[in-house]
Amino acid sequence: MVNLTIDNKPVRVPAGTSILQAAKRCGIEIPNLCYYSKLKKPYGSCRICLVEVEGVSPLLAACCTPVREGMRVLSDSPRVNQTRKVILELLLADHDARCITCEKNADCKLQQLAYEYGIERGRFSCLSCNYGVRRDNPFFEYDIDKCILCGLCVRVCDEITAAGAIHFSKRGFDTRLNTAYEQPEKCVYCGECMFVCPTGAITSKLGRYKGRKGDLSATETVCPFCGCGCNLYLQTNKKGEIASVLPRRDSVVNNGSLCVKGYFGYDFIRHKDRLSTPLIKENGKFRRAGWEEALDLIAERFGRIKKRFGPDSIAGMSSARCSNEENYLFQKFMRAVIGTNNVDHCARLCHASTVAGLADAFGSGAMTNSIAEIGQAKCIFVTGSNTPETHPVIALQVFKAVRENGAKLIIADPRWLRFTPYAQVWMRQKPGTDVALLNGMMHVIIKEGLQDGAFIAERTEGYEAFAAVVEKYPPRRVQEITGVPAAQIIEAARIYAAGEPATILYSMGVTQHVSGTNAVKAIANLAMLTGNVGKQSSGVNPLRGQNNVQGACDLGALPNVYPGYQKVTDPACRRKFELAWGLELSGKIGLTITEMIKAAGRGTLKALYVMGENPMLSDPDLNQVEKSLKNLDFLVVQDIFLTETAALADVVLPAASFAEKDGTFTNTERRVQRIRKVLSPPGRAKADWRIISELATRMGHPFSYESPARIMEEIARLTPIYGGISYRRIEKVGLQWPCPDKTHPGTKYLHKGRFSRGLGKFNPVEFVPPPEWPDEEYPFILTTGRLLYHFHTGSMTRRSQGLERVCPRAFVEINTRDAERLGIRDGQMVRVSSRRGQIRIQALVGERCPAGVIFIPFHFKEAAANLLTISTIDPVAKIPELKVCAAKIEKIG
Ligand code: SF4
Repeated sequence: MVNLTIDNKPVRVPAGTSILQAAKRCGIEIPNLCYYSKLKKPYGSCRICLVEVEGVSPLLAACCTPVREGMRVLSDSPRVNQTRKVILELLLADHDARCITCEKNADCKLQQLAYEYGIERGRFSCLSCNYGVRRDNPFFEYDIDKCILCGLCVRVCDEITAAGAIHFSKRGFDTRLNTAYEQPEKCVYCGECMFVCPTGAITSKLGRYKGRKGDLSATETVCPFCGCGCNLYLQTNKKGEIASVLPRRDSVVNNGSLCVKGYFGYDFIRHKDRLSTPLIKENGKFRRAGWEEALDLIAERFGRIKKRFGPDSIAGMSSARCSNEENYLFQKFMRAVIGTNNVDHCARLCHASTVAGLADAFGSGAMTNSIAEIGQAKCIFVTGSNTPETHPVIALQVFKAVRENGAKLIIADPRWLRFTPYAQVWMRQKPGTDVALLNGMMHVIIKEGLQDGAFIAERTEGYEAFAAVVEKYPPRRVQEITGVPAAQIIEAARIYAAGEPATILYSMGVTQHVSGTNAVKAIANLAMLTGNVGKQSSGVNPLRGQNNVQGACDLGALPNVYPGYQKVTDPACRRKFELAWGLELSGKIGLTITEMIKAAGRGTLKALYVMGENPMLSDPDLNQVEKSLKNLDFLVVQDIFLTETAALADVVLPAASFAEKDGTFTNTERRVQRIRKVLSPPGRAKADWRIISELATRMGHPFSYESPARIMEEIARLTPIYGGISYRRIEKVGLQWPCPDKTHPGTKYLHKGRFSRGLGKFNPVEFVPPPEWPDEEYPFILTTGRLLYHFHTGSMTRRSQGLERVCPRAFVEINTRDAERLGIRDGQMVRVSSRRGQIRIQALVGERCPAGVIFIPFHFKEAAANLLTISTIDPVAKIPELKVCAAKIEKIG
């Protein structure tokens, strides 16, 4: 520790602290324009933070000068202030102060400093103020004349986002921001540069003239897109528009960062296509209806179908986009009002195998660690997760671990990912061969004696049987199955086993297979084998896809469990809910989403209630899905848009978006966080929790909740892992479950000292090939996935102007060699077909996919990838094989 004084105030700080940071510690704000606490190294470009240090002749930049024992610093002396004035004048010479129409007016650090130091007009003329505004970026404007060259944007783009999209070009007064070599930009539109810009040089195009600081009111909420659950402020203007978005700087989740969707994906909220009134279909056409009429009709039809065919002839799809409270009510409605456990949601299509596999191995199917811990890991193994596109803010933690802390990165993915260049080992396994690859790595670890014997002996069971199976997967054999060179498998195994703490991140590349549950169990085996679980920064981390898919699982929107994973087949659990809800409940496990579609096709399922799901784009083999949905006697869809599924409904109910209601979402790290009402829903649309309550009441089971907070109280009473959660406690910062009581601080990482199930269980798992493999007729492996710019079935992001502009159409990625062989040019339209259907789509030729594999994102209805995918399911988790099917690709014309 070092002792010093700043403006005669004593302060004691760790050695290595800068004067600027030390001043902050003792409540002294030294002005600055180029300092940002998230950046590792200071830059010292703006010179505003100059201070006087006793015994040192020149003034020193406080951000770059480390403290010394006995140092006496003056941050506010006449000499310092006089010098700062001159520096400000020089900065203003390079800044065109058009404050009148500047978006940053009243929020500009330079303006504020000019005011504080009383500089009305600089002595120097504006020498570089005729370069104009660059508008070629779809989201940002760069007003070159307002740029003071502080370098913050360039540094965050490199250090935090690892995009390196912008640099300075030219020299002297001509210096300006540019893309490298003035080539098309590599920008990922994360908004980090805009957020840190101290002046109005980089501003949002989409927020232009919508309002500035002082005109806007900010409401804290959570991003509605991916499972990261980033904290942000929606800023609305007097017209009730979302004018802009600000990340929460002190968020433990996103630490002041967002991705392009989190910043710019909100046009859907006020989009003209929003449903604003209930719709009833008559003679094949929708007509507008009132709530009374629509709800009466649904209550009457559900009641009639239940009476005639029994409660199990009705099913419900809940929603990973709706709040915890709404998912709780939806499953309660299906179980208590309809009388069936036929309730499921889209986790079935993404992480059902995680829920099953990790629950079996560890006793809990959730991410073991917190997002912030990833940045401290010494080894990160990413498999089946295109993290930079699907969970961009989590990817920042990976970049941080690798670039700042020297962590080793292992990637197993057939496709090139944005962080592939940072990987020590990149294994391009054939899609669907993950179990063999993981067994191969574990074979090496055991053969070389790299396992953690003490951990295995004390904390686990089933090792012998597991080791006997792994013995059958030497690297040579695994190379034949996976296509990954044996040497890479050995290297990856050694790095992972040596890297403590080591963490595994995985997602749907692992789970969306018929062998998904086994692959998840193999991942759990790998972590236990090396003792990398139950500790800070080491564990098994399934990255959940949608904003509240974790919460929808937690709150029992699953056919086999009540809220808190309490089994419907356990008489004690059932009794508990029967007592709470005051009626008898079914002990029969219900249908999964995939089974609902099949039952509808067979005619055994008569009615379906869909809340915020779009199986007509998200489910495999869409032709079959359409036939099945059309075969239902009665389909109700509750959504914010007339989705492809809603178009087939008998009744459509207009719901409120996330910005139009209160509630909670649970993010991928198990953190329960508040969302808050910012705007009123359009027309007569209502929050889902109100709609469900009104329908239940109509059907003779009054759901009389005054607010989502009251629903959460009921959840806490019945759900042990949420027992200590209340709106009061999560007002400022969310809590991570398990949080069993009102004094519990929440759980940062799971399985410390003891697995949730007691001992961790090794599961011996064998490689089973995917159900459909390429052949002469269909020679390619088709794999599907998500993009950075769109979300799920695109109903929200495709209605967001900027996102649609950057990524307006579907494409099929094909390897250059395959394209040459087939005579396909980049950008050309091609036909992709499988045994289930065909689509026309644009070819994207390159090296991202390996030869023999093609990739199609599934967001686009006009070229729906799921017309081609196969509906064969994992026998345990019932998740479909969305990642591998055989396909062919042909030129059109
Ligand atoms: Fe939203 Fe996910 Fe982007 Fe965060 S990373 S801003 S939660 S889409």
